[in-house]
Amino acid sequence: MKKVISIFFFSCFLFNAFAGIAEKKTFTPLDLKKETVDTIPFVIDNDELEDFSDSLVSLPSSDLYCDFDTVNTHYAKFNINELKDSVKEIALYDKNSCGYVHPFMGKVTSDFGPRKRRYHYGTDIDLETGDAIGSAFDGRVRIAKKSKTYGNVVVVRHSNGLETYYAHLSKINVEIGQEVFAGQIVGLGGNTGHSHGSHLHFEIRYLGQPINPTEIISFTEHKLICDTLSLSKKTFDYVYEAKKAAAKNFASSKNRNGKKVYSVKKGDTLSSIARRYRTTPKVLCKKNGLKINSNLRLGQKLKV
Ligand SMILES: [Zn+2]
Repeated sequence: MKKVISIFFFSCFLFNAFAGIAEKKTFTPLDLKKETVDTIPFVIDNDELEDFSDSLVSLPSSDLYCDFDTVNTHYAKFNINELKDSVKEIALYDKNSCGYVHPFMGKVTSDFGPRKRRYHYGTDIDLETGDAIGSAFDGRVRIAKKSKTYGNVVVVRHSNGLETYYAHLSKINVEIGQEVFAGQIVGLGGNTGHSHGSHLHFEIRYLGQPINPTEIISFTEHKLICDTLSLSKKTFDYVYEAKKAAAKNFASSKNRNGKKVYSVKKGDTLSSIARRYRTTPKVLCKKNGLKINSNLRLGQKLKV
């Protein structure tokens, strides 16, 4: 049975009115009531949806994104320096939408920020496997797949250019290309991918760049704290912090003699480590006094 999906032009139309980079001084909020909105829907079927490039006009923020990539989880990050000193005002939802619905009302167990010498690009919310996870805003599903790190993950693109991520799900309830509304169940919470214990990893990105969700959401009151996100270079100050954390991580991966050491992780083999460091299993064996069929222990330090 062919599934029929209704597409509304007006989200793209409205977004155009919000999207331009404007100096904060000159930004004039749009009065939605004064806008004439064309709400005549048209329909496309699954065959047409297979080639998204042909239907860009119907996809959210098609004026900002040059594609609707349904394979790669992340969109290439935009250059923050392009923002210069401007402030881009992004309306979080339009008045004709379903607004905001908190994805899951649970306790935050990990915030956006540096974590164990790595950077955590989302907010973790505690849950029980099987708890229902809702889309934060209206949008269209760009990614619905199993990823090594995110586990079962859903990415929804919204008409204002933001994308929201729902990771480590035990089950995905939506399909690529599907239109979803705020609060609609996108999947069930779980513990898939790189995850220790059931939780939701919730992430917000704009043109590939992660944004701290607490810039716009109160995770204690489960609601938005503002109607508009002011995007400026300051929003991405954390990038320098993340780079510092990465440099520190790299430095600490060297031993006192300045030689690099690698700590063996789950699933590693001599071949996979050798590939990572562009060497051969034989060379690794020689450096570490191992035999080619030696078993590796988790946490074992190898000279690389
Ligand atoms: Zn997380």
